[in-house]
Amino acid sequence: MPSKICIIGAGAAGLVTARHAIKDGHQVEIFEQTDKVGGTWVYSEETGCHSSMYKIMKTNLPKEAMLFQDEPFRDDLPSYMSHEDVLEYLEDYSKDFPIFFNTTVIDVKKDSEQWKVTTSTNSNLSVHFYDVVFACNGHFFEPLNPYKDSGFVGEMLHSHDYRRAEHFEGKKVVIVGAGPSGIDITLQVALTARHVTLISKKATYPVLPKTVLQIASHVKSVYGLGVITDEGENIAADIIIVCTGYVFKFPFLDSSLIQLKHNDLMVSPLYQHLCHVDFPKSLFFIGLPLGTITFPLFEVQAKYALSLVSGKGKLPGDIQNFEERRLKTLENPAAFHIMVEDQWDYMKELAAMGGFEEWNFMETIRKIYCYIMIERKKNVIGYKMVNFELNEDKTDFKIVKF
Ligand SMILES: Cc1cc2nc3c(=O)[nH]c(=O)nc-3n(C[C@H](O)[C@H](O)[C@H](O)COP(=O)(O)OP(=O)(O)OC[C@H]3O[C@@H](n4cnc5c(N)ncnc54)[C@H](O)[C@@H]3O)c2cc1C
Repeated sequence: MPSKICIIGAGAAGLVTARHAIKDGHQVEIFEQTDKVGGTWVYSEETGCHSSMYKIMKTNLPKEAMLFQDEPFRDDLPSYMSHEDVLEYLEDYSKDFPIFFNTTVIDVKKDSEQWKVTTSTNSNLSVHFYDVVFACNGHFFEPLNPYKDSGFVGEMLHSHDYRRAEHFEGKKVVIVGAGPSGIDITLQVALTARHVTLISKKATYPVLPKTVLQIASHVKSVYGLGVITDEGENIAADIIIVCTGYVFKFPFLDSSLIQLKHNDLMVSPLYQHLCHVDFPKSLFFIGLPLGTITFPLFEVQAKYALSLVSGKGKLPGDIQNFEERRLKTLENPAAFHIMVEDQWDYMKELAAMGGFEEWNFMETIRKIYCYIMIERKKNVIGYKMVNFELNEDKTDFKIVKF
């Protein structure tokens, strides 16, 4: 029987959920707080908005591994794309979707058998009722900045507010954290700044531009004039760019429904990072896993969730124990949603439980992903200066340099 479904957010996660929910015959309504689809991929010169996108960027995954199942990227695009290319892809993907723009979901509550959803459009509140709610509100918009009250007298910004490198001309810049954004920003700022120090314990790179000093350490503290590392090294800075990631945030759900644990890096109580354990067939979270191939994984999550909505999918009896079981396998509980190698078995498991066919091409995506992980580490400056060419049956690829 068709359900009435609410989707919060028109980013990649919300859009792929909508595509499958509509295909399954459900009645779908999408609420988007901005005036555009695309979420992360909507670049804005202004800071403080939802998106953390910077002006010049190339995707950190190639188009061959970043696609939805029935929607390839344009043939004429390079493998590593601009944010404009990805935004155009999402716009094309979502033509005619039932989206209410400039409408923020401010509250979601259980109301007997249904979900009561309160929205705000230009400060006008409306109340709606749904059978099922999908939270697809993203998780790169609430900066995690451990140093914000450190008393640093220079300028400090989080990568969320980084837009372009011109701003750093002639400055001594310290960058903390070398994840995908941290390293992108380092390479850009190195072109304009007087000097860049990149501090990161986990991610280190054998080759970086001459103007970058890499220190494999943690920041012990930030003080008025700069940074002190765990080893006691004192590094003076005009500007500190904090690239330490983001916390999860669901302003429309109160703590009786969702708790954020381990410094707000774990969303609980969920089964498979996806279904609320108390409402496993009607409250879902798409896109929480980190360190993944994103779009294809969102699609598998959406299909499994919808299999539960339709009653076709399986839900094991011990979903309450999922979190405890996963936490036992982790050294650091704050890494709860970080998947990397686990993502392939995760998607297989969801497909098996959801009773839908695995996508054959996922094995090729896995090969591409593993290749990139190695290349990025070896050659972070140049690894995007190639295209991927798939063989005829799309089971393998070759690299074409340009
Ligand atoms: C700088 C940067 C670079 C990235 N590069 C890549 C890359 O190269 N490749 C890749 O695969 N991934 C990349 N990512 C990850 C990227 O975030 C995901 O690929 C994906 O776009 C996330 O989609 P999402 O729908 O989960 O979230 P978002 O894109 O954040 O979308 C969430 C949407 O929900 C809306 N929303 C939020 N709250 C509400 C509310 N209360 N009511 C109504 N609407 C709401 C927001 O306005 C937004 O439109 C990058 C991320 C960042 C920050």
